[in-house]
Order: sequence, then structure tokens, then C-alpha cells
Amino acid sequence: MPNPSVPPQKGQRQEPEERIKNFDEVAQGLTKEQALQEANRCLNCKNKPCQMACPVNVQIPDFIQHLLKDDVKGAISKIMETSLLPAICGRVCPQEKYCQGACTLKEKFGPVSIGLLERYTADSARKQNLTIPPTPQKESGFKVACVGSGPSSLACAAELRRKGHKVTVFEALHKLGGVLSYGIPAFRLPREVIEAEIKNLKKMGVDFEENVLIGPSLSIKELLKDFDAVYLGSGAGLPMMAGIPGENAVGVYSANEFLTRINLMKAYDPKSDTPIKIGKKVLVLGGGNSAMDAARCARRLGQGEVTVIYRRSQAEMPARKEEVENAMEEGIKFSFLTIQKEVLIDENGHAYALKCTRAKLGEPDEKGRRRPIEIEGSEFTIPADSIIIAIGQKPNPIIPKSTPQLKTTEKGTLVLDDNQKSTMEGVFAGGDIKRGGATVLLAMKDGITAATEINKYLENKGAK
Ligand code: FAD
Repeated sequence: MPNPSVPPQKGQRQEPEERIKNFDEVAQGLTKEQALQEANRCLNCKNKPCQMACPVNVQIPDFIQHLLKDDVKGAISKIMETSLLPAICGRVCPQEKYCQGACTLKEKFGPVSIGLLERYTADSARKQNLTIPPTPQKESGFKVACVGSGPSSLACAAELRRKGHKVTVFEALHKLGGVLSYGIPAFRLPREVIEAEIKNLKKMGVDFEENVLIGPSLSIKELLKDFDAVYLGSGAGLPMMAGIPGENAVGVYSANEFLTRINLMKAYDPKSDTPIKIGKKVLVLGGGNSAMDAARCARRLGQGEVTVIYRRSQAEMPARKEEVENAMEEGIKFSFLTIQKEVLIDENGHAYALKCTRAKLGEPDEKGRRRPIEIEGSEFTIPADSIIIAIGQKPNPIIPKSTPQLKTTEKGTLVLDDNQKSTMEGVFAGGDIKRGGATVLLAMKDGITAATEINKYLENKGAK
């Protein structure tokens, strides 16, 4: 009998004073006993609200029923019917917005810790060698190229390969994984977890080519000579700046550069080719996942104070709730309702302070978040040695610029129809290049939807 009144399991975590000295994973996951106890909280609801709320429709109640019988192999196989990235999603998905937000137990007892159960399943299966990647259908003879190796392309590639198409993923960087590798730090998502899940795609027969910049070095038109269709999952890697005076000063970084240098180029190691120097006072502008990641990396690198500057209140922060709590536990300070106005620069061109004003909350904007309204005469200055701008990203224009057939919106995202089809014949797209910055799950959902459409497109072309 399910026992939902037992308090939800949270799993072990490194203590804050210890973890700020290292880049090892903070959350340690569930033990077998904890996982079984948590699985026993699930009511196995007939209408499956958690599954309905999952953008990639993971069969949550079903995999939990396998876990209850300690059948990890059955549980992982169930998950892999719809998602090949469970160890990643179990760690980084904002479950409070999706599955756990819809759990029947949410109000009365607290939701089932579905993310932790998914992570437990994937990790245990990997350690016990129980993960069997799906077997592709008979070879179709069609070839599809996926551009970018972030979650959107990975999900698309896996689905296309299941259908028996030959798939090659082209990645501009030397590391695969997109934001999972260059943006999200190892203390949230260990590199071996990303590598293991990509390895499953390789086992299915998906090919990967790193260090290929599609557009300038290999055009989409050229790709279409070799491939029957193309999926663009090239993300939103162009950082947005704040547009304030002084933001080009020495000591000001975009979160994108800061995190890439740490995650891909080991800038935390003073012996690396590109070490990052940050001083005793670091300011991070923004309230999303990038801002939390940058602040927590800065805390681990520096010896002093890290403060997040956010123009709304905590309730409006788009970052995962757990990561905001983690950042607070790690001693990161927050200055809410604060608007950045100018970076003050010394005679050497180095930033030394941030001029700000106070704000109050007004009416909700188009996304439903209350707008910040500047309070007149409330100017003040915060001293800073380093300032990291983490206020958002947009698609890099490299591909559309080199491909005039691809139409873009004013925001730089690609114009797509409801079936993820671009304005160029045979080219589909999704993920952050469509949404301009969203979540891993929405990027995956786009990749899966596009794979279905690409499959139909190829079928219409006739057998090869
Ligand atoms: P990306 O992950 O950006 O991958 C695109 C890939 O395409 C990159 O590897 C890029 O190098 C490659 N590429 C680009 N142009 C070319 C080209 N011309 N040729 C070849 N390759 C190219 N979401 C969550 O759900 N949870 C989180 O905790 C979370 N944390 C985040 C932390 C940070 C720092 C950031 C920036 C984002 C975070 N997000 C999070 C958002 C999430 O990571 C993205 O929405 C998601 O990764 C988008 O996936 P994608 O596949 O569309 O693009």
C-alpha cells in the first residue's frame, strides 16, 4: 500500500562550507532504501498528472512501479521509451514547474521527489550495466544531419535513429552536450553523466563530429547535398549585455564567457591557459539559471563576497528553486528590486563599482511576472572587483546569416511553422534557436516533435 504521508526524501548533499571549496557534485542522490521509500509514496494515479505535465511524456507512474519492485532494469527501459537523457533531466529539470508541480500529493504531503527517482534509476542502471539503448528499426537508407549537440539535437537524433535513419550530429565546440557541458557547472551536472548518456546514442549508431562550425565552414546548402534533411538545434549562445555605460570595462564578463572558461577551459585551475581572476567583491546581474551558476562558480573561485543583483523579487526569479536555495546556503547575497545603471571605471579601465537604483513591483508583464518600476531618487553604488552579466542569451546569427533562405524573427529566433519546419526546404529546427532560451525539457520536446515531422517528410520522399 502506498504511504504518501512519509515526508519526501531529499537525498544527501555536500555541506555548504565544504562544497564552496570544490566543484564536486553538490546533490548526492538517493540511496536504495530512500528510493524505495520514496517510490512507495506514489499513488500511481490513473490520470497520471505528473506524466501529462512532463514535456517529453516520461511514463512516470509506470517507471516508479518498476522501482518499487526493485526492478531497475524495467524502470530504466520504461523511461528510455521516451527519453534518453534521464540522469541529466533528473538533475537539472525544473521539476517544480513540470512533473512535481502536478503531483497529486503536492498540497497535502509534498510531491513525490520524481526528479530524484529518475536520477536514482538512471545512475543505478548505469552502475549495474542495465541500460540498454533502444534498438533502431531496419535501416531506412535516409541520412539526417543534426546541427549542435545540445539536448534538442540529442533528443532529435535519438528519435530519428530509432526509426532506422542514419544520423550525424555536427558540433562547433570540441565538447559535446551544448549548455549541459559549457554552461551548467560540474557541481550540478558531472561531466561523466553527460558523457554516459551521449554514449548511449553512440551505441545506437548516431555519429558525432566535433569542431565543425556549420554555416561558415560547411553551409546548410552543402549539408543538404549529403543529407536528406537537416535539424538545427544550435541553441542561443549569444549573450545579451545590459546596455549600460561602462559594461565593456575590464573585469566585466558575460556569464557565457565566464562559465565556458570554467567548464570547458578549466579556468578555476591557476595553471590553466586561461585562468580567471576575480576579486573579493563579485556582482552577478540576473535571476535565471545562468546567474545562479555564475554566482556559485564565483563563490568557489573567490575569497570574498558574491552578490546577485536582480531587478524583481525572489518570487519572480526564473532560476530553478533548488539552485536559488543552494546559492543562498552557500552564502551568496541577493540584492532584489535593484536595477543596474552604470559600471564605474577607474583610470586603468577596470570596473570598480556598479551604480544602481531601487525598484518596486508594478503590473504583470506578458509572461505574468510583475514588472520592476524604478524608484526616483534612489540611486546608490555597490563596490565591485568583477561584474558578471547573466541577463539572457539569444541565438547566434551565424547560421541564418550564411543561409538567406532561413527567415528569423526580430529577436533573432528562427521562423518555424507548427511542425518545426523552417522556411528552407528540408530544414527543421527547435530548442533555444526557436525559443531564445528555455529549458532542457522544452528543447528535447522540440527535438522529438521535429523528429516525427522529419520522419513524415522522409516517408513522403519515398523509399530509398
Ligand atoms: P544548446 O544546449 O545551446 O546547444 C546548442 C549547441 O549547438 C551548442 O553546443 C553549440 O556549440 C552548437 N552550435 C551552435 N552553433 C553551431 C554551428 N553553427 N555549428 C555547429 N554547432 C553549433 N535548463 C534547465 O532545464 N535546467 C537548468 O538547470 C538549466 N540551467 C542552465 C544554465 C545555464 C548557464 C544556461 C545558459 C542555460 C540553462 N538552462 C537550463 C537552459 C537549457 O540549458 C537550454 O534551454 C538548453 O540547453 C537548450 O538546448 P539546445 O539544444 O536548444 O541548445
